[in-house]
Amino acid sequence: MSHINVTINGRQYRMACEEGQEVRLLKLAETLETRIQSLRGKFGEIGDARLTVMAALTVCDELVDTSNRVRALEQELTELRDFRNAAVERARMTQTAVVNALNAAAERVYGRPVADFMADQALWLGAVHPADQGLVLQWLSSVVRGGPSTLQYRIIDSGGQVRWLEDRARAVLDGNGRPLRIDGVSSDITERKLHEEETSWLVNHDALTGLPNRNLLNDRLGQALARARRAEQPVGVLFLDLDGFKFINDSFGHTLGDNLLKAVSTRLSGAVRDGDSVARLGGDEFVVVLENVGDAAAAEAVAQQVLQALAQPFTVGDQSLHVTTSIGISVFPEDGHSPEILLKHADVAMYRAKDQGRNGVQRYAREMSVRTDERVQLERALRLSVQAEQFELHYQPQVDLRSGAVSSVEALIRWHHPEFGKVSPARFIPLAEETGLIIPLGEWVLRQACRQLKAWHDAGRRDLTMAVNVSARQFHHQDIPRLVRRVLEETGVPPQSLELELTESVLLYNADAVIEVLRQLKAIGVSLAMDDFGTGYSSLSYLKRFPIDTIKIDRSFTTDLPQSKDAASITRAIIAMAQSLDMRTVAEGVETEDQLGFLSLNACDAVQGFYFSPALPAEQVGAMLAENRPLTVPRLRSETPLRLTSRTG
Ligand code: C2E
Ligand code: MG
Ligand code: MG
Repeated sequence: MSHINVTINGRQYRMACEEGQEVRLLKLAETLETRIQSLRGKFGEIGDARLTVMAALTVCDELVDTSNRVRALEQELTELRDFRNAAVERARMTQTAVVNALNAAAERVYGRPVADFMADQALWLGAVHPADQGLVLQWLSSVVRGGPSTLQYRIIDSGGQVRWLEDRARAVLDGNGRPLRIDGVSSDITERKLHEEETSWLVNHDALTGLPNRNLLNDRLGQALARARRAEQPVGVLFLDLDGFKFINDSFGHTLGDNLLKAVSTRLSGAVRDGDSVARLGGDEFVVVLENVGDAAAAEAVAQQVLQALAQPFTVGDQSLHVTTSIGISVFPEDGHSPEILLKHADVAMYRAKDQGRNGVQRYAREMSVRTDERVQLERALRLSVQAEQFELHYQPQVDLRSGAVSSVEALIRWHHPEFGKVSPARFIPLAEETGLIIPLGEWVLRQACRQLKAWHDAGRRDLTMAVNVSARQFHHQDIPRLVRRVLEETGVPPQSLELELTESVLLYNADAVIEVLRQLKAIGVSLAMDDFGTGYSSLSYLKRFPIDTIKIDRSFTTDLPQSKDAASITRAIIAMAQSLDMRTVAEGVETEDQLGFLSLNACDAVQGFYFSPALPAEQVGAMLAENRPLTVPRLRSETPLRLTSRTG
């Protein structure tokens, strides 16, 4: 026994053969190869394996006889048997499809002279796309029996291009009702078909990323569930939503936002297995369907993996962007039996992940549904309340630690809904930011606060300043300097009496543009405060770049004063650095005497918190301001008695 290496149709085969048979086998392989090439011209569309088989059809008997140890060809030979049967059938049927006449237009469609078809009777059927030949023959015989008169099918023209034809035909019968011939008209409908394909692609795909859309996702998920039912296998659904995408879109523009979405979709597709479907539902929402996932824990593991993959920075244009994602998971069959319910529940779980601080994974649990319904209702109520201006401002005093006077008040919005009762701004402000309602709401707050301040000024407290919170979305989406200028003019409040509180998220992106807006605000004469300082990413040295007047030390530090060493040293450091940068410090959330003592000793400029007063309605704060009630501070830790008095203007 010896071996030879042959190449057939681009593939290497190592064949075993009897001694002395080598040359014969090599010849055989050569014949096969020639045959393949000639068939390729005719059936360019069909797969390579099939082509090898077709070629083998002509030489196979010999091949099988002489070399039944050719393992590599075995597979193809099995296929061959089927194919040979089909070919025989086709040859038989071709006899019935005799072409009697074709008009000149056929030349345009097929790209061959009409005479060719007359000369070679196999040509007409041979030009039909191999996948449609059976269909065409079946249809022809059904036309004879009174079946449907039209058919759409593909041909391959002489240039190798696939074209779509629509045939309309009728059978011409003899006196005894036997078919004489079939008359028909072919129309080239290739353009229309391409257009249809394109439209149907768009119906099922997202034009931006090319991923399946909700339509196709529903289909695929439905199929996956059908398979999973038969195999008694779970299916996992991951619902993803990027955190803060709106913010990126607002800050950098939609082109960059679009490019980021494309990059995310590519990375997402790469992070899951080939068989898993990734779809985009719109906006920054994506869904992954995990088939054969094993169990819920495995689905969670995949979700974690996806989270990691998306956490790596994206380079879009010349920006490097960090994006985090919130993922909700639902699993068939525990969390639902239909695509709709599974998607809804994964969505609900995703919202829980957002609520839990984002950048996380949550598996669906039944209690979550209640909360989402609430959220939807809340959003509706918020929209209506914004229209109806059903809000109120409360004011929380800020006490200056040097003078002991209420030097400033912070306007804090209050929403008392007839049905939901009091809703905390910590809950509805993020919702207002997400929905864009913060724009009209913020405008109302600013105007209302300035009107109130003007009233207090007129009542004699001309030294009083008003602090107003401005959210990041407002900042990036609205011409804030213009709004501020207009409201100051309208209300007659001097600019130096207004302080705008910004959060660090305002400064995170697009620093240059932000600095420009801050400069404009400074030029108007208002002052700027950094709210909740210490909770975000920025350091004081970073803050130096921005024209900030006041640092508000976040409540989380104050709360742990003075017993926590960390909180104490951080607070001291913030105060010292702020002083060196010429910034004022205000401590938030002062609730106890000890906290006050510590802050006073460490030269914090002002304090705000329940120790003095919560935020109160305007009348009560007005009374407090008018009453000139001394704000007493009990003993400080230094044992120095300090009396704080409110001061009249
Ligand atoms: P913020 O601007 O940091 O406001 C301080 C928050 O701390 C207020 O909560 C206030 O009531 C609370 N607070 C003050 N002193 C104490 C204290 O001693 N102890 C404790 N535990 N809490 C204290 P509030 O009113 O619930 O507001 C929450 C957040 O909602 C505000 O945080 C602010 O970021 C936002 N917000 C409120 N009103 C507005 C508004 O008109 N516009 C915008 N954009 N955001 C607002
Ligand atoms: Mg504030
Ligand atoms: Mg704050």
